[in-house]
Amino acid sequence: MTLPSAARTVVIGGGVIGCSIAYHLAREGRKDIVVLERSKLTSGTTWHAAGLVRRLRPSATLTKLINYSIDLYGALETETGQATGWTQTGSLTLATNPDRLTNIKRQVSLGRAFGLEAEVVDAARAKQLWPLIETDDVIGAVWSPADGRVNPSDVALALSKGARARGVQIFEDTAVTGLQKKGGRISGVEVGDHVIEADEVVIACGLWSREVAAMAGAHMPLYACEHFYILTKPLAEVQALGKGAHLPTLNDQDAFLYARDDVEGLLVGCFEPHAKGISTRDLPADFSFDLLDEDWDHFMPMMENALRRIPALERAEVRMLLNGPESFTLDSQFMLGESPEVPGLFLMGGMNSTGIALAGGAGKAMAEWIIAGEPTMELNEADIRRFSPEMNVLDALEARIPEVLGRHYDNPYPGRAMETARGQRRSPIHAGLVAAGAQFESRGGWERAVHFGGEAAHFPLSFGVPAWRAQVGIEVEACRNGAAILDLSAFGKIMVQGPDACSFLNHLCAAQMDIPEGRIAYTQILNARGGVESDLTVQRHGSETYLLIVGAGEVVRDLKRIRETRGDFRVEFTDVTSGYAILGLAGAKARAVLRATSNTPVPDLKSFHFAPVEIGLARGWAGRLSFTGEEGFELYIPTDMAMTAYEALLDAGASHAGLYASGSLRIESGFRAFGHELTPGTTPHEAGLGAFCAMGTGFVGEETLRDHTPARRIVSLLFDDPDAIPIHDEPVYFGGAVVGQITSAAWSYRFGRSVALAMINAPLDQLAANRVVAGFEVEIACTRYSARAALKPAKEAF
Ligand SMILES: Cc1cc2nc3c(=O)[nH]c(=O)nc-3n(C[C@H](O)[C@H](O)[C@H](O)COP(=O)(O)OP(=O)(O)OC[C@H]3O[C@@H](n4cnc5c(N)ncnc54)[C@H](O)[C@@H]3O)c2cc1C
Repeated sequence: MTLPSAARTVVIGGGVIGCSIAYHLAREGRKDIVVLERSKLTSGTTWHAAGLVRRLRPSATLTKLINYSIDLYGALETETGQATGWTQTGSLTLATNPDRLTNIKRQVSLGRAFGLEAEVVDAARAKQLWPLIETDDVIGAVWSPADGRVNPSDVALALSKGARARGVQIFEDTAVTGLQKKGGRISGVEVGDHVIEADEVVIACGLWSREVAAMAGAHMPLYACEHFYILTKPLAEVQALGKGAHLPTLNDQDAFLYARDDVEGLLVGCFEPHAKGISTRDLPADFSFDLLDEDWDHFMPMMENALRRIPALERAEVRMLLNGPESFTLDSQFMLGESPEVPGLFLMGGMNSTGIALAGGAGKAMAEWIIAGEPTMELNEADIRRFSPEMNVLDALEARIPEVLGRHYDNPYPGRAMETARGQRRSPIHAGLVAAGAQFESRGGWERAVHFGGEAAHFPLSFGVPAWRAQVGIEVEACRNGAAILDLSAFGKIMVQGPDACSFLNHLCAAQMDIPEGRIAYTQILNARGGVESDLTVQRHGSETYLLIVGAGEVVRDLKRIRETRGDFRVEFTDVTSGYAILGLAGAKARAVLRATSNTPVPDLKSFHFAPVEIGLARGWAGRLSFTGEEGFELYIPTDMAMTAYEALLDAGASHAGLYASGSLRIESGFRAFGHELTPGTTPHEAGLGAFCAMGTGFVGEETLRDHTPARRIVSLLFDDPDAIPIHDEPVYFGGAVVGQITSAAWSYRFGRSVALAMINAPLDQLAANRVVAGFEVEIACTRYSARAALKPAKEAF
């Protein structure tokens, strides 16, 4: 076979991910696909994976992708003649402390929302299921019978066989050395002097992906860590199980371990708390079917944990301590999608040690995305557009990624924050917030103040009543009856200018954009399916000038969508995020405080209007709207004057509030948030925002929304029991059946109980007819709590 000089799609990388994308592209009918692998298929990370496949995942999307993988891996042998080794062994997850038990019970409840059954069992039953374990410290466990394992290389080979049978050309020993672009779009790949022109290029190069993406100027923030497991020689206790019998996969997260039987011996792996990052610079250029050096000093604490849990290991002879590299991402979620910077370049990687389990489903999702030009299912949490170029800074990755591996088995408590790579993006008033005792979380690289009680009001973390409840109550009170500064400077700001600015924005955004100067519109950007791609406010500053204020995590996706939608419209757009601070000033005294900062009168603004304002020595503009639903303003101030404005507000009597306070108020007010109530798979009508769609203006997605009757709706929920502490995603029941899931939850200081927003599919008629419907239940860590629901915001309905 000779390398072609052109192909429709070139997939770079012959690991399980590249093979799956090529297989699914071909299965979807795409012709003229070439896979280029610099060494041999599976020679990167795939060949040495442990092959564990776990269905119970923290989200509907991940569970759906893995369920598809399992169905596919079971069927591939019939299709290709190549077995994948899929064996349903089940898995057993131990808890040795109450918080772990709560967490694994939360997962069981979550699984029920996706139709997955798992059982909470006691230590005696756990011992029956895994006879080799010591259970003296086990206080409970979860048995998930549907989990299993595969042979990773065989999965990749079966996929490649299936791909070849459908005409995919696979070239081994063919390293891509460069990427070519024409007019900013990807146009081909270089293999030394040879060029293959291509319409689309897919990077699936595992831990090398970041460097390969950089060949085209694209960002792919991932980084590798050393990843360890031991393999033992045959062990009598395992042999005693009998031929063909298997142990379930064992997860002992409190001891950072997982284990399974392996060729009559054991495989014991770990996600150790202090992981070791490894740069591709330190790997030989010809790294292929290679491993990293054994490091017994590093593994020894894990070995000691393993010996305690599985005493039979004492008698086992360790065959090898396998150390292989695997790549991880900043938020421990894999990434896929079209590069926001380079059209036609698709990226998938950073599999966070779940690449084998995810390959089938995620490869299919990627293939469908390439063909359709848009995701065909809900993939928001994995969408590469959540990462900004700033998040690809090497030092940040080198600092953060080992911590990501090290926290893989952490309990996901609310308020848990990463400790490394902090302070990358700071608000212009950051120093003031520090001085005021802010507790920060790092979100998208930004330091965001969550409350002002400092560490003393933050720890210990808990799934129950959080340490900050009283502190946040003070801040909520200030947002209602005082004047509290909420730092919103991390919000994205995009300037759109040009003769066609108005008509362009009417095409881009669902609401009417032909608003008078000085007005603000609340709107969504939709995709062709009518799903919400972004939730934003738009200010009209001139006949040809608008400013878009978007969520901190939506800037990259909005810029990409603007670029793609612009067509022949005569508009220019600029990301001016770093140019302005945004200070929310919330509460009944907001106006008085603002007035006290300056002798220049505060403009008398109607809701959703803005006008210039002077704040002490600073000049900016004030909008009459709020992120909390309480009375107040948003103040937009050039970055260099933000600190002086902030000081003037403090001098005039303003206090502080953080994101936890604004979150509680937002949920009470029924305000929808992107990534929670609003996702690319949710229509504005489902979210109760249909009234904000200006039908007839020709916006993207309008056709789909014509005559659209939503089959599910966002509702407000108020719990009856003050002990109910929902966090996110919990299943909602009505009449004994699962009808949906929670999308946001918080403690309500107004009601003295938890409030939530949830997406549910029943009983919609009753909800439409009644102000409040009782009889709902929400399952939190296997306990059901009753709640009432309403379509209206909680603070109006209950
Ligand atoms: C110790 C260990 C245990 C694991 N256990 C599990 C598990 O139990 N379950 C699970 O789901 N996952 C597990 N994983 C993770 C899983 O192995 C990976 O997520 C998965 O193999 C990643 O596949 P990939 O195709 O992205 O990467 P790779 O398999 O590394 O494939 C990338 C390919 O790209 C090629 N390439 C790179 N640069 C170029 C170039 N310039 N030109 C052409 N080709 C190029 C490489 O040669 C390589 O073959 C484990 C990983 C490790 C290290």
